[in-house]
Amino acid sequence: MKKTYAYNGIVLGILAGFCVGALTDSIALAIIAGVAGSVLFFFLIRTIEKAIDKGVDAAAGAIKNRIDASHQKKAAEKQNAAMTAEQGTFCVYCGEKIPAGIEICPKCGKSINE
Ligand SMILES: [Zn+2]
Repeated sequence: MKKTYAYNGIVLGILAGFCVGALTDSIALAIIAGVAGSVLFFFLIRTIEKAIDKGVDAAAGAIKNRIDASHQKKAAEKQNAAMTAEQGTFCVYCGEKIPAGIEICPKCGKSINE
């Protein structure tokens, strides 16, 4: 089971019971406040924890989707690069497209295999 801080709620409830007991000078009221406070704080903390878990899960899902999209984009870019190399390259001097198998740029005349 996941770590929970809900049991701290029982400690808070007992403290509340002590406070009520000290203020009202009544052991009965202290016990009632202690029990009621323990239950209340326990479920309050539990509810907050669940809400946080839900938010964390949603955020993790959103981050995963982004990473997946990024991987997809990278794969497409890689494929593009492979296709470009197969079909030819671009001259590093003038940017002219050079078909595969040709080693001298038809535009600027420089050798691309340097
Ligand atoms: Zn060129």
